[in-house]
Amino acid sequence: MKVGVLALQGAVREHIQSIEACGAEGVKIKKSEQLQNIDGLILPGGESTTMRRLIEKYGLMDPLKEFIKGGKPVFGTCAGLILLAKQIVGQDEPHLGVLDVVVERNSFGRQRESFEAELTIAGVGDDFIGVFIRAPHIVEAGENVEILSKHEDRIVAVRQGHILGCSFHPELTDDHRFVQYFLNMVKESNEKVHA
Ligand code: GLN
Repeated sequence: MKVGVLALQGAVREHIQSIEACGAEGVKIKKSEQLQNIDGLILPGGESTTMRRLIEKYGLMDPLKEFIKGGKPVFGTCAGLILLAKQIVGQDEPHLGVLDVVVERNSFGRQRESFEAELTIAGVGDDFIGVFIRAPHIVEAGENVEILSKHEDRIVAVRQGHILGCSFHPELTDDHRFVQYFLNMVKESNEKVHA
């Protein structure tokens, strides 16, 4: 199983390491052709406006939209979640605009720029340490969106079919359960294709 990590900016190496810790192959994605060879894709955390600029610079906007439309699993973490969202508070246009949620950037307040919180994530388990770094949260989720986790009444993890998103950085601790949850989605999607 090959899982790509969009490698334009951000926490790329850490995601590759967590994919490999779960026993799959992690591939850094920099060019659109590479999307053909992977079974799933992670959009990492970092800085969404910088990532957007690089996505355009490298001609990846349409190829990424096509990849997601094709139904292979995608996981956006932190800035990656912002890239996926259909709407961003205070902005006219979304980036990829494929996940039916409204997100607000940097929404946990200045005094809490980064923090850790113990989360319960549906389908994953309890006592999951979420690392939040200038994190967005989900203000609103569409009716087809399953809410997987909340922190202090704010939605911080969701799933809409083959699209998974979270506010925090699941790749920054040794607890690989959430990345494993995504890899299970990739495995199930592979089995469907080859059935
Ligand atoms: N604040 C960043 C943004 O708006 C996201 C931060 C992160 O990915 N850790 O893109």
